Amino acid sequence: MSKSLQAIRGMNDILPEQTPLWRYFESTVARLLDNYGYKQIRMPIVEFTELFKRSIGEVTDIVEKEMYTFEDRNGDSLTLRPEGTAACVRAVLEHGITGGGQVQKLWYIGPMFRHERPQKGRYRQFHQIGLEVFNLDGPDIDAELIIMTWRLWGELGIRDAVKLELNSLGTSESRGRYREALVEYLSAHHDKLDEDSQRRLKTNPLRVLDTKNADTQAVLVDAPKMADYLDDESRAHFEGLKARLDAVGIPYVLNPKLVRGLDYYSKTVFEWVTDKLGAQGTVCAGGRYDGLVEQMGGKPTTGVGFAMGIERLVLMLETLEQIPEEISRQVDVYLCAFGEEAELAALALVERVRDQLPNLRLQVNAGAGSFKSQFKKADKSGALYALILGDDEMAQQVVGFKPLRGQGEQQSIAWDALAAHLATCVVQG
Ligand code: ATP
Ligand code: MG
Repeated sequence: MSKSLQAIRGMNDILPEQTPLWRYFESTVARLLDNYGYKQIRMPIVEFTELFKRSIGEVTDIVEKEMYTFEDRNGDSLTLRPEGTAACVRAVLEHGITGGGQVQKLWYIGPMFRHERPQKGRYRQFHQIGLEVFNLDGPDIDAELIIMTWRLWGELGIRDAVKLELNSLGTSESRGRYREALVEYLSAHHDKLDEDSQRRLKTNPLRVLDTKNADTQAVLVDAPKMADYLDDESRAHFEGLKARLDAVGIPYVLNPKLVRGLDYYSKTVFEWVTDKLGAQGTVCAGGRYDGLVEQMGGKPTTGVGFAMGIERLVLMLETLEQIPEEISRQVDVYLCAFGEEAELAALALVERVRDQLPNLRLQVNAGAGSFKSQFKKADKSGALYALILGDDEMAQQVVGFKPLRGQGEQQSIAWDALAAHLATCVVQG
């Protein structure tokens, strides 16, 4: 017996009943990004594996164990992108659009791929909206990114359910000094660390800070603190950021253990976290990566960005029941026609209406059917009004106009007046 065909574990279909909420979310973010002056960029989903190794870092979770890597027919090693920053940097370098200090404020949206253990809020194909800014090095732009997301949470009605965690990793110099001090301290307590942390101590010691292991956490209580190692430049940057968040009234929590998974961050790092989604609590995360472009072969170019997980944010909207009423209705008007002659007349009529009301969501009954069955479909469509075209209406060159949600009696509307009449009763999106 053949096995039934199935999607790959952790890769989800987004079904028609879910897409309205996705589109609402995506269009809300896109409008906000437009309003703040960000431009969309679209990169390929597949890149050379080397790109991610060089940018994300060889000893990160992503590169060590989460990438979908394969050889193509030419024998090239390719990888389904696990995140967007690497490809975005590759693209701006390849096209020279950050050269000579040109500022770029870019955003992108699309699927990312990581071979993780699938669970609620964690998938193998998931979707991000990400944003990267190049050649602006002050705390003002870091603040703008955070202020913009704060506005987004407000518009989506989830502001009370998220919390901003903030840290500074300092310049690469101050981070280097801190790393040395941390390694020295942790090495002295090597035996008390969990196995994973012992390994990270050698490869990516800062990552030990965000261990979930209780014994290691106990050791960390007396570990050197990153804040004590920030140089003047890092400190001024961080203070500048905090002052701006204070000015707008955005609350934050300083989290000295926030280091982020990727190698390339410097100075500002932040996460928006929630306790409404169980273990998968980070909905948006980002930070500054002033050294990355150079590390990838470009001229020194500062960068700062973030990415938000669409699945987690959509889950939040569902969990908190912040689903605007209007997105659940997909149809404004449903037209029922009876008999071949009426069907033909109806087609010409609705096309004229569409010419005049391009935003009207007008669904024409397909598959004919009795009065009762068409009416049932009209009702089920969620439409506010039904239009009826039968023998009587044909004879008088009118259309029956029937409110379906209990707002009054059926009326007859002359064909020529139909668009004008619909314009008065349907609020156009
Ligand atoms: P996590 O700690 O949850 O694994 P991360 O640090 O690996 O997150 P980033 O690489 O910073 O995540 O990605 C930014 C955002 O993308 C995350 O905050 C999250 O909202 C989302 N995200 C990351 N991985 C997944 C995944 N496997 N499934 C769904 N969303 C994800
Ligand atoms: Mg992860």
